[in-house]
Amino acid sequence: MTLTPEALAEQRLAELMTLNELGLIISSTLDRDELIDRALRAVTRHLRFDRALILLVDPARGALRDGRSVGGSAEMAARIGELELPIDLDAALLSRIARADGPLLFRDVDQDPDPGNRAFAALLEVTSFLGTPLVTKGRTVGVLAVDNRSTGRDVLPGDGPLLYTAGSLIAGGIENARLYAELEEQKDALERRVVERTADLVEARQAAEAANETKSRFLSNVSHELRTPLTSVVGFSKLISKRLADVIFPAVMTDGDPKVERAMRQVSENLGIIVEEGDRLTNLINETLDLAKIEAGKIDWRDDEVDLGDVVERATSATASLIDPDRGPRLVVEVGSDLAPIRGDRDRLIQVVINLISNAVKFTPQGSITIIGWQEADTIHVAVSDTGIGIAADDQARVFEPFTQVGETRPADDRPRGTGLGLPICREIIEHHGGRLWLESRLGAGSTFQFTLPVAGSGSDASRSVAASDGRGTAGRA
Ligand code: ADP
Repeated sequence: MTLTPEALAEQRLAELMTLNELGLIISSTLDRDELIDRALRAVTRHLRFDRALILLVDPARGALRDGRSVGGSAEMAARIGELELPIDLDAALLSRIARADGPLLFRDVDQDPDPGNRAFAALLEVTSFLGTPLVTKGRTVGVLAVDNRSTGRDVLPGDGPLLYTAGSLIAGGIENARLYAELEEQKDALERRVVERTADLVEARQAAEAANETKSRFLSNVSHELRTPLTSVVGFSKLISKRLADVIFPAVMTDGDPKVERAMRQVSENLGIIVEEGDRLTNLINETLDLAKIEAGKIDWRDDEVDLGDVVERATSATASLIDPDRGPRLVVEVGSDLAPIRGDRDRLIQVVINLISNAVKFTPQGSITIIGWQEADTIHVAVSDTGIGIAADDQARVFEPFTQVGETRPADDRPRGTGLGLPICREIIEHHGGRLWLESRLGAGSTFQFTLPVAGSGSDASRSVAASDGRGTAGRA
C-alpha cells in the first residue's frame, strides 16, 4: 500500500505527536500505573491502533503480569489485569515478545496450534496483533501489544519500529517510576528506623537514668551504713591507742624482756595503721559519695561572689599543718591582689585548692610548691606548681579518672595513701563553674595543675552555667 504525500506527512505528524506526548507524560509523573494508562491512551489516540495493552516483567516470579489496557471492554481489562504468563513459556505469544529483540507481528492467532494462544486470541477477540518488548538500558521491563479489532484495519509490519521506539520511551518511564518507588520505600524504611532508634534511645536513656538513680541511692545507703560503724572503729582505736600509751604501757613491767617490748611496739604500730586506714576509708566513702552526687547533679551549688585570693589563702591555712617547717617543701604564694571576683561556690573552690596543695605536698618530698593567681582579660588563672616527682606523659590524662593513682606513688608498704578521687572531683567542680582544669608535668621535674575561671558577668561565668540545664560549663578539657 503506497501513501499519498499528504497521508505520509499526516502519518509522520501523528508519530511525532505520539512520541512528544509520551515524553511529556514520562516527565510529568512518577506513578507507574498512571504513566502506563496515559501512555496507552496516547498510543491509541495518535497512532492508528484501536486497542493497546502493557504487561510488566516481574523478575522475582519470572512472569509477565500487572496487565493494563485501553480500548477494550471493562471485563477484558479486568481479565488482562489477572493474566500471569511465565516468560520462558515457549509458545505463549506475549512471552515470545518479552524474549524478542524487536517488534513481532502475529497473524491468524485464532488458528494458532497452541490452545493457550487461541484462548488469548479469543479473550482479545483478535486475529492479528503487533507487539514489542519494552526495553530500557538493555533490559526488558514489559511488553506492549496493539491491535485494530474494532476498525478491522490490518496492523502492518511497518508499524513495528515506531512501536518499538514508543515502547522504549515508556520503558524508560516505567524504570524511573520503579526506581522512585524503591527510593520512597527506602526513605520510609529509613524514617521507620529513625523512629525505632529514637524510641530505643529514649528507652536506653531512661534505663541509664534509672540505673544512675539506683547507683546513687545504693552508694548513699551503703555509705551511711559503713560510716557509722567506721566512726566507732576509728574513734575507739584512737582512744585505745591513747589509753595504751598514757596508762597501760607505763604500768607494764617489761623487765627489759625484748619480746614484751616488741609486742607493745607492734600493738601501737598496728593501732596506728587501723586509725590511718580507718581515716582513709572514711575519706574514700565521703569522696565517693561526693563525686556520685556531683555527677548526678544532686549538689546544691552556692552562688556567691568569690575572691580567688581569699580562696587560696583559706586553702593554704587549711593545709599548713601538712608541711614540715624544717624539711619542707617551701610554700610560695603569689596571687594578684586586684583579681576580679567570680561567681560560684566558695567552699567547693577552697576544696579544689586544698586538694591540689595536699597532692603537691604528698608528692614533693623537698623543694617548693608555688601557687600563682592572675587575671587575663575575663579569666582568672590559678596554678599550683611543685618541684616533686612529676607525672609521666602517658599517665597525665589518667589521673583525672576516678580511683586512679599512677607512677611510683605507692609507698613501700604498698598501702595506698589517697583515694584517687580528688582530681576527678576537682575537675567536676571547676567545669561546673565554666572553667577548665589541666596539668603540665615532667617525670622527676615536678607538676603544675592549673585551672581557669570566668570572671563574674563575663558571659560564661557560673551564674550562667548554673542556670544551664545540666549545670556544667562548656569548656573542653586540656
Ligand atoms: P589521691 O591523691 O587521693 O590518690 P587524686 O585524684 O588527687 O587522688 O590524684 C590521683 C593521682 O594523681 C595520685 O595518686 C598521684 O598518682 C597523681 N598526682 C596527683 N597530684 C600529683 C602531684 N602533684 N605530683 C605527682 N603526682 C600527682
